Amino acid sequence: MDKQTIVKLLHQQNFRLTREREALLDLFVQSDKMYTPAQWHALAQQANVQIGLTTVYRLLEVLTKVGLATPFLVEGSIYYAFCEGHHHHHFVCLQCHAVEDLYECPNIPSPPQGCRIEQHKLDLFGTCEQCQQKKSPYSHH
Ligand SMILES: [Zn+2]
Ligand SMILES: [Zn+2]
Ligand SMILES: [Zn+2]
Repeated sequence: MDKQTIVKLLHQQNFRLTREREALLDLFVQSDKMYTPAQWHALAQQANVQIGLTTVYRLLEVLTKVGLATPFLVEGSIYYAFCEGHHHHHFVCLQCHAVEDLYECPNIPSPPQGCRIEQHKLDLFGTCEQCQQKKSPYSHH
């Protein structure tokens, strides 16, 4: 999804992009990891983007609403990662918090009789290949 489309979607939600907000958005779009709002705020500050925590929350909320961010609940904290707009699933590494998009839909259980499925969600949580190699004492990588 190109940036103009993202900006348009945000405008439709009455979220106007200032230069600082746009820098925060760029940071978010370019990352392949999930972070909590407080961590995104810290990353923005490290990158000299002067933005309040409230604005970080607001951007993540609006992006989630338009399908461009996904919240993940891990050990009681909510982390957010950037997502393309269309339907997919995730593999989340619990060590490094990398998030990979999976475009294959799983076999899903049948719904209770008489019920109709409108949508499904599935996210997988585990340890990525890199983190497995880091942990193994016999690794030669
Ligand atoms: Zn995604
Ligand atoms: Zn990892
Ligand atoms: Zn699916």
